[in-house]
Amino acid sequence: MQVVRRSTVLFHLSLAVILGGAFAVIGVQVWPQGAWLGLLPVVILLFVAGRTPWRRWRLTQQSLTPQEREWLDDHVPFVRHLAPERRERFERDVLFFRAEQRFEAVGETEVTDETKLAVAAGAALLLNGRTDWELSTRRTILIYPGSFDDDYYGGDYASFDGMVHAQGPVILSHEAIRESWDDPENGSNVVLHELAHLFDFDDAYAEGVPSLMDPSSAEAWKRLVQAEMRKARIGKSLLRRYAATNPAEFFAVAVENFFERPVLLHRRHPAVFDALKAFFNLDPRLPEEERGDAESMPSPDEEPASAPTPDEVESN
Ligand SMILES: [Zn+2]
Repeated sequence: MQVVRRSTVLFHLSLAVILGGAFAVIGVQVWPQGAWLGLLPVVILLFVAGRTPWRRWRLTQQSLTPQEREWLDDHVPFVRHLAPERRERFERDVLFFRAEQRFEAVGETEVTDETKLAVAAGAALLLNGRTDWELSTRRTILIYPGSFDDDYYGGDYASFDGMVHAQGPVILSHEAIRESWDDPENGSNVVLHELAHLFDFDDAYAEGVPSLMDPSSAEAWKRLVQAEMRKARIGKSLLRRYAATNPAEFFAVAVENFFERPVLLHRRHPAVFDALKAFFNLDPRLPEEERGDAESMPSPDEEPASAPTPDEVESN
């Protein structure tokens, strides 16, 4: 995320020149000093387009509290070994996302600062390798106290921890958010899962091929997903069986594993790992793991073939 994007500046500058020129031309025809009217759209555009950069610039003058930094160190292994510049960018993205995103509590829960931090950390993680990308904050994030069902009620039969539709809010269970970051290396993270779907929804509906994916890679990704979904379906994959539901769920589950179990994903599904590494433009393995010291990690046979969870997440 950036304070201001070059493409946004160029767009609004072009618009200001066109509208300002048009207003000035019309102005001089009705009033000798009417050319000054050309400044009107320029001022309005400056005000409208400048609000987000101004807000973000002010946020760059702030920083996370020591407690928040400690929470990140304890719950997001990825940030512990980041170079100072990358760490600074991660924390800045947390500040941007948290300030711009609307959170609402549902039922008997409340949106705590830690909940906001936990969700914003997921966004910052997904964006850390792509400084020019944004995650839309136009959707409200609804925080439920626990699991919910098809009708968005809790209870004994509630089985959803998170949900996001092509249109509408992102829904997350407070309990699942906490559990996701309490064990950030088990390949299950509802925040990463639901936010990953947002990359898919950029082109209106989820098909498992994020719109930001390099078009030249899209066909190869589709073929890879079909082959890997077959493995997940029969329990021969590191990814839990839910990944075989459809390509969109495969992408979301693969993202969870890419960030939480990168060494294992690289070892067991190198093509999936490489595709996600190219997509997110980062390698979430620790430096020593990248060098190949991962021999000390469990072998594929020691790792459960899949880790089905009773409280699956869903999107459609
Ligand atoms: Zn999903």
